Amino acid sequence: MSEPKLKAPRGTFDVLGEQAAARTALEARARAILEGAGYERIETPAFEATELFQRGVGESTDIVRKEMFTFEDAAGRSLTLRPEGTAPVCRAYVEHGMHKRRQPVKLWYLSSFFRHERAQAGRYRQFWQVGAEALGSEDPAVDAESITLLATLLREMDVRDVRLRVSSLGGAEARSEYRERLQEHLRANEASLSDDVRSRIDVNPLRAFDSDHPGTVRVMEDAPRLLEHLSEEDAEHFAEVRALLDAANVPYEVDSTLVRGLDYYTRTVFEFTSDALGAQSGVGGGGRYDRLVEQLGGPATPGMGWAAGIERILLAGEVPEVGQPTSYAPLELFLALERTDGETRRRAFVLLQEARSAGLKAQMDLGGRSLKGQLGHASALGARYVAILGSDGATFRDMQGGGQEQIATDAVVHAVLRGLHDL
Ligand code: ATP
Ligand code: MG
Repeated sequence: MSEPKLKAPRGTFDVLGEQAAARTALEARARAILEGAGYERIETPAFEATELFQRGVGESTDIVRKEMFTFEDAAGRSLTLRPEGTAPVCRAYVEHGMHKRRQPVKLWYLSSFFRHERAQAGRYRQFWQVGAEALGSEDPAVDAESITLLATLLREMDVRDVRLRVSSLGGAEARSEYRERLQEHLRANEASLSDDVRSRIDVNPLRAFDSDHPGTVRVMEDAPRLLEHLSEEDAEHFAEVRALLDAANVPYEVDSTLVRGLDYYTRTVFEFTSDALGAQSGVGGGGRYDRLVEQLGGPATPGMGWAAGIERILLAGEVPEVGQPTSYAPLELFLALERTDGETRRRAFVLLQEARSAGLKAQMDLGGRSLKGQLGHASALGARYVAILGSDGATFRDMQGGGQEQIATDAVVHAVLRGLHDL
């Protein structure tokens, strides 16, 4: 009886072959764009204290209420697989005293995140995001630069039918006055709302804008809009962000119903969607979070950032021409063994290390193949040169030119280098 086959857990997947190559290409583009703009790479742990997300993302959000993978360690501490990247980056900013550096501190990441969601196309339980955060400046140019960088990445990845919506949630004061006004409106129409929205009137009334429940949608059509109740300063800030986007020729729509699923946003919020994605249309989004660092115990520090889903970029984008998966990248040297005795294998192994130290793409036979099999394998790998190690020296074969000669083992690396550079 054979054992039952094991599969990757629901909502997870293996990344291999063309997918792995496409991700490598995406990462290279993201790095070029973001590091070119002064963003430094950061990687935070895959799990954090649960409290970080409770305090950072907010108790009333879907993420904290029902999407976190939370567990206890042996000492009884509550830990959570990171569902998003902004709170961890802010935690790291405080922990490393980055407020003492030149501001803004710009950081980017490409990591996997975990949410316990209903798995479907474009929605997984482990997924990858590329994200960028700029901490320490309120300048509207930070907002515009941040949004423009994501627009550039999506354009370079040929993501189809992209739309950008922007809005402003204002500062804390306007927000709390507005919350009350919105709560009044929701209570006055309570009977038409979905259970979910009704149960969150007190804790998170803004989320009602995100509902697709028909009754709620009708109620929200004539709900008061935060955008119309911004303070003068917040309105000016938003106007400047828009002016900069206009100047940079980044097309967008102002959408006063845009609220994001995380509690920490203030002022600018934005979202890129792709109509090519169907129901899971969100490609990436973010905004300003001027209170978050303080909420996590750090000094008052404004922040602005975004995250975009790697799988959705690849689904809605043109998978870049990456040629063959890297494991099949054209080989420069293949070492074949005439005989598979230990002495010949060891000689080949030493030569393999020498070839790699000299910068060559080199492989040796690892499959215990016959000599004929090895030569077939070498041409399948696209090897430019093959050295067949015999009892005494090597037969050095040019797989493109067709010639071959008998040379000493320690002349092989040099022969390849000479051949490649004389071309
Ligand atoms: P959605 O509305 O699709 O649930 P979200 O508002 O929860 O998205 P964010 O928290 O803003 O998403 O995350 C930023 C991006 O990460 C999304 O725009 C999307 O591309 C991607 N993303 C979010 N959740 C998932 C998931 N479960 N699987 C794959 N990608 C995801
Ligand atoms: Mg979500």
